[in-house]
Amino acid sequence: MREIQMVDLRAQYEKIGLEIDHAIKEVLLSTAFIKGPDVKLFEEELQEYMGVKHVVSCANGTDALYLAMMVLGLKPGDEVITTNFTFIATVEVVALLGLKPVIVDPEPATFNISVEAVRKAITPKTKAIVPVHLFGQCAYMESIMELANKHDLFVIEDAAQATGADYLFKNGTTKKAGTIGHIGTTSFFPSKNLGCYGDGGALYTNDEALARKLRSIANHGMKVRYQYDNIGVNSRLDTIQAALLRVKLKHLSKFNKARIEVANSYDGAFAGCRSISVPERASYSSHIFHQYTLKVKNGKRDELKKFLESKKIPSMVYYPAPLHVQKAYGYLGYNENDFPVTTSLCKEVLSLPMHPDMEKDQIDYITTKVLEFFDK
Ligand SMILES: *Cc1c(COP(=O)(O)O)cnc(C)c1O
Repeated sequence: MREIQMVDLRAQYEKIGLEIDHAIKEVLLSTAFIKGPDVKLFEEELQEYMGVKHVVSCANGTDALYLAMMVLGLKPGDEVITTNFTFIATVEVVALLGLKPVIVDPEPATFNISVEAVRKAITPKTKAIVPVHLFGQCAYMESIMELANKHDLFVIEDAAQATGADYLFKNGTTKKAGTIGHIGTTSFFPSKNLGCYGDGGALYTNDEALARKLRSIANHGMKVRYQYDNIGVNSRLDTIQAALLRVKLKHLSKFNKARIEVANSYDGAFAGCRSISVPERASYSSHIFHQYTLKVKNGKRDELKKFLESKKIPSMVYYPAPLHVQKAYGYLGYNENDFPVTTSLCKEVLSLPMHPDMEKDQIDYITTKVLEFFDK
């Protein structure tokens, strides 16, 4: 059996390496390393895949969030509501721009932001909501959009973990994660569902004026060469990354489907085990399993993780500590027990190996060992 990894990028490269090598070589020969033709082509192909009018690429997913907050003209002191159960980038950009992060608990079942908690957190200073489509499944966007429309708020979707997930509206139509709010952001960090071989990111919007301004801000605020209408930053996607992302995008649906099949196998094997709960699948979203995250009951999580480690099975805790207890965010003045849902999730969650190239013997070995732990 091949050694098990959380994400096996080597296995993927062994399958699509020839295409990737060719794409990179072409860029090397062209020497168009910045803003080469592949960047625009990738943006257009991603637009098509996402069903969105504009894709603006940038240097990474954190920058995408930063650029989104800049372009919406949010002012110091404005409040931005987001979930406590996410990667730090979501809240750090809010803080960096002098905005006030207002964090709320997620739903215990889906790990995604609680709409009820958002409703309670809205004040006259609230300007934006940032739902995160965590682990590959959409937050409850229809309700979030209703709430945002009612209070005249912007919605920035952090879709870094959900490239390719579909949101299902009550009227039967679907949209891709990240294309529902005013702006969506994503990351091409190597381990993401659509990952490059370094850093990369993008923004989605259907608003042409926002797209134009985003392009300008991501390129030093330039309007035409050496004329600056906005204060900008330098945040661009390298041509090499764009070229290989064009290759990977062609395989994305297949890769996401393979992840779902791995999740189905895990679900099937764990169905009878009452000591763990498998990830809940919401009726309003597909789940493309950026992570396959169990909830381990009775305080056994860390013991299970150690046991798996001893059997050469990696697992990860996303996320071990909530934002509100992190030293850097102490200034927000939250108390340790302000977020009971996040606090209990941080103690229960365990993500198992998940990637499109997992083999049957690996999945069988993992599920057998997890069940063996609970039978002991
Ligand atoms: C990965 C990630 C980001 C940041 O992306 P980078 O490209 O690493 O900057 C932001 N939000 C979430 C939810 C992520 O998972």
